[in-house]
Amino acid sequence: MRARIYPLALGKILHHTISNINQEVAGLMIGKVTSDAVEVWDTVTGLQQSSPAYVKLEESVMALVAEVLMENRPDLYIVGWYHSHPGLNVFMSPIDVETQKVYQTMFPKAIALVIDPVQFSVSWKVSDLKIGVFRLDKNGKVVPVRFTLGLQRHKVLESTLIGLQMLDLIPQKHDNTDDGNVRVSTAKMLDIDHIVKFFSKTKKLLTSKKG
Ligand SMILES: [Zn+2]
Repeated sequence: MRARIYPLALGKILHHTISNINQEVAGLMIGKVTSDAVEVWDTVTGLQQSSPAYVKLEESVMALVAEVLMENRPDLYIVGWYHSHPGLNVFMSPIDVETQKVYQTMFPKAIALVIDPVQFSVSWKVSDLKIGVFRLDKNGKVVPVRFTLGLQRHKVLESTLIGLQMLDLIPQKHDNTDDGNVRVSTAKMLDIDHIVKFFSKTKKLLTSKKG
């Protein structure tokens, strides 16, 4: 099995992780499974506990995203999660393995993307991008998943439009807590009406493009 990551999804992962370079941050990857690959079309993040070497995404984020997708885009689902290891390199820690087990229990083809954005954030050279995609085999052993960046024109457009509508899904702001951890909190309630409108607008646009 391979993974195909579309440019907007990768861009959002880079933006999220580079703008929080001193903390581990995490988010969900949204996409679909084709005959040959797990495709990552978009990402979304939300409430999480994070420190320089630990991050935990609140379960409510997954439930909320799953519900919005089921109601509006049943063809897309949560295909895994991403998180950063700033300056620590790319690997699956014992806690990451436990987290991945949960994802694979819910969705057997779930993948985990780990990124160390520090070197890239300085040089902005693609060759300095440290990214790994992993999953667990039948015995619970971590195996790397080969990944490519998707370049099919229609899918790039479609995933970009989906990504744009997801931007508003979970607005966030960062607060410093007493223990020095950064708490990423939801700044305002989710406006379902707004999202539904956006989804139907995009659907119309894509249908007319397909001709
Ligand atoms: Zn980790």
